[in-house]
Amino acid sequence: MTITTALQNTDDLKKNWSEVQIKLKEIYGLDVYKSWIQNVEAKEIKHNSLTLVVKTRFVRDWIVSHYADKILDFFQKLDKSVTRIQFEIHESFYNEKSNQTNIVDFATGSQIADSKDAGYATNRLDHRLTFSNFVVGESNQLAFSAAKRVSETLGHYNPLFIYGSVGLGKTHILNAIGNELKKTDKKIIYLSAERFMYQFVKSIKNKDTQKFKDVFRNVDVLILDDIQFISGKEVTQEEFFYTFNSLIENQSQVIISCDRSPNDLDRIQDRIKSRLSGGLVVDIQPPDIALRLQILKNRCKTEETYFGKEVLVNDEILVFIANEFKSSIRDMLGVLNRIIASSRIQNKVPTLQDAKLILKDLINNMQSVITIEDIQKLVVNYYNLPMSDFLSSRRSRHIARPRQVAMYLSKKLTTKSLPDIGRKFTGRDHTTVIHAIKKVEELMAADKKFEYEVQDISNKILKSN
Ligand code: ADP
Ligand code: MG
Repeated sequence: MTITTALQNTDDLKKNWSEVQIKLKEIYGLDVYKSWIQNVEAKEIKHNSLTLVVKTRFVRDWIVSHYADKILDFFQKLDKSVTRIQFEIHESFYNEKSNQTNIVDFATGSQIADSKDAGYATNRLDHRLTFSNFVVGESNQLAFSAAKRVSETLGHYNPLFIYGSVGLGKTHILNAIGNELKKTDKKIIYLSAERFMYQFVKSIKNKDTQKFKDVFRNVDVLILDDIQFISGKEVTQEEFFYTFNSLIENQSQVIISCDRSPNDLDRIQDRIKSRLSGGLVVDIQPPDIALRLQILKNRCKTEETYFGKEVLVNDEILVFIANEFKSSIRDMLGVLNRIIASSRIQNKVPTLQDAKLILKDLINNMQSVITIEDIQKLVVNYYNLPMSDFLSSRRSRHIARPRQVAMYLSKKLTTKSLPDIGRKFTGRDHTTVIHAIKKVEELMAADKKFEYEVQDISNKILKSN
């Protein structure tokens, strides 16, 4: 492809995407548009797949579960070649583990080369993650005090090594330290171990490892998140080790987070392990119910201040969420976000039932838990039919219609293919399934009562599952 055609293609893509955005605004309204669509960018089309860039995982999940079908529909009207949509998350980089994009779009070689600007990585701190909005409980008390102590008196524990499983607040604490120290004139670098490796490998390619060394060995504070990602890569381990040693020798502060204790790091050299344990090692445990609830309450308050609008989520729902999510604060907060967002969009106070549905929706998105058999059972019950009639070849309307509804819902609520669905209906052909889906859609569009009926069944399936 020549450069001109490539540019031409990008132009087309941007144009098409903004047209799709406008259409979405028309059908969903300004609120939805502003909350979910406006900031999404179209990046490229490759192998018939359109890549959209979003800012957070949450936004991606929301779009996938609510608007993706429509987006694809609209886009195909402008560009038939596109058959799929995929998402890339360009998040503020700190909490994505395995997201290539985050790495690639980070510093260019020139940033590394600019050794005067050793503080550049402080820009990557998330200013929202502070000590003051970190809720302390038994499970994170030690880590919290150690972190505070270090940010008050550099070198008090060196290195400070904080470990715990995902979503428990390690990145939050590390950012809190960084944000605290940013107020001083200390030179800080905060980055994930993955980035550290990326920078290093890049500096090898660019033949300017010396500059890399200068940058990293001349800071007052190095904060390295998710160090488990360094294990295994020999050269980077070496480089890390030297950097680490020279920092400690210069009495610079090193703060590290990891998903396991230094001893449990496999494939990492013993001398590094023992160095890592040389200061203070503290862990964060899963939060108890009281802490989970308090974190949820605080998050509601923050949202209120941020949006200047009351958050309409009652305690009953908060208790429900706190009981469902025991192992990851991140997942728990994700669900709260969803409920808040949906209450904003629909402009109503969510009931516990709404909350459960939203949660179901989330879980169903992650794993298809509803089976065709579940759907068949519920439909048969709903219409009060014997299963044998329902699955027979009889075509009388009072049996055929429920059967079509069940096929339609099987397509909607499971990830099964059309032929798969056909097979579950006593070996019917996929064209029969297509016909059923079309029929139900037509009827729903023409008949409000029928539409309500189908939605009612759909809700019942979601709830019972
Ligand atoms: P980790 O790095 O351990 O995977 P994070 O620091 O990214 O976890 O935390 C996940 C989410 O939970 C973040 O939004 C963070 O702000 C929030 N969080 C975790 N612990 C607390 C806490 N004690 N108080 C308030 N928010 C918390
Ligand atoms: Mg983290």
